[in-house]
Amino acid sequence: MDEVDTIIVGAGVVGLAVADALSEAGKEIIVLEKHDGFGRETSSRNSEVIHAGLYYPTGSLKARLCVTGRRMLYEFCERNGVPFKKVGKLVVANHPEEREKIHAVHEQAAQNGVEGLRMLSRKQVAQLEPGIVAEEALFSPETGIVDTHQLMACLERRAGSRSATLAYGCEMTGIERNNDTYQVEIVDTDGERMRLECRTFVNAAGLNADAVAGLAGIDPTEAGYRQHYCKGEYFAVSSRHKDSITRLVYPAPTPVSLGIHVVLGLDGAMRLGPNAFYVDEIDYDVNQAHAKEFLAGAREYFPRLALEDLRPDQSGIRPKLQKEGEGFRDFVVAEESARGLPGLVNLAGIESPGLTSCLAIARAVAACI
Ligand SMILES: Cc1cc2nc3c(=O)[nH]c(=O)nc-3n(C[C@H](O)[C@H](O)[C@H](O)COP(=O)(O)OP(=O)(O)OC[C@H]3O[C@@H](n4cnc5c(N)ncnc54)[C@H](O)[C@@H]3O)c2cc1C
Repeated sequence: MDEVDTIIVGAGVVGLAVADALSEAGKEIIVLEKHDGFGRETSSRNSEVIHAGLYYPTGSLKARLCVTGRRMLYEFCERNGVPFKKVGKLVVANHPEEREKIHAVHEQAAQNGVEGLRMLSRKQVAQLEPGIVAEEALFSPETGIVDTHQLMACLERRAGSRSATLAYGCEMTGIERNNDTYQVEIVDTDGERMRLECRTFVNAAGLNADAVAGLAGIDPTEAGYRQHYCKGEYFAVSSRHKDSITRLVYPAPTPVSLGIHVVLGLDGAMRLGPNAFYVDEIDYDVNQAHAKEFLAGAREYFPRLALEDLRPDQSGIRPKLQKEGEGFRDFVVAEESARGLPGLVNLAGIESPGLTSCLAIARAVAACI
């Protein structure tokens, strides 16, 4: 049986970042990915925003890994030619309760160490973004956007050019501890089964991370790793509005999401999204009937928008640890020695800001195996 230092399950942005970090340290690695290429799931179905770290409770992994990861990611993109733009972001408020919320976000963000924040008056918002109407806004100059596909391609290239093998079309179906190694069972696209041996194992399986932890003998519910799917849809905005807004624009956040916001592509194309609703199954269809809800939300701050400007785009699914109605849950980054599984790391609940945090998550994983 072939033996490597580390097996990583999942070639999303997190698994690839872990492969990059571990291969830099000279480890021999295999990345198992059930699809025929990298980034076929959540990593290609998001807003591509490099978050500043405004919202998360101070000291949480989400706050720390987002702030550190954001700084690491800008530097990484700069050094490796990955396209990005620090466009900045406005969190806007038009009602008294929203103004209260954005002041609370400002305080939270300052405690999280986010740089350069400023409150803007109605007049200052109009000067910065003439298409936007807001009584008040929080401006975050450190927020940006990144070409996620190029980022993943770069991480894959770097890891592959060192000591990592990317095994596409290979689904991990089992894992057993045997003396001081793990035996990992794989099924390829032809249905052929094989086994590989490794000393350390990283579960970066995204929406499937709770099931993969289960294969290792951990009860996901008891461990607090059970994930609940929360869907987010996007609508593309007509090109007649292209370049009319140059910064990301968010409403005040809700308990489950950051609210339906203006998402910008690096080419200036505009989308609205994502909404947030819990689902039982993975299904990426976008419901045209939701356009009205998008319009109502966005017109509060973007009054020139009309229903005929919106066309269904893509959707993504968040692997949330909290069930509908439950409070904040943090990322899980857990080395499982305490469960008798030394060198096995589970990553669960890696929803937003997982893209922003990917390099910092990878560094945290490398530090514990
Ligand atoms: C709507 C939405 C908007 C978001 N916006 C942002 C944003 O603007 N900024 C931000 O920072 N974050 C954002 N996020 C979060 C971000 O997209 C995720 O945190 C990140 O992509 C997670 O990456 P991952 O590698 O953990 O998971 P994934 O990309 O899902 O990768 C996991 C991989 O594991 C593979 N896999 C699973 N099980 C197996 C198995 N048994 N064998 C082999 N392979 C397996 C899957 O095929 C998949 O490719 C958003 C998320 C959503 C849903």
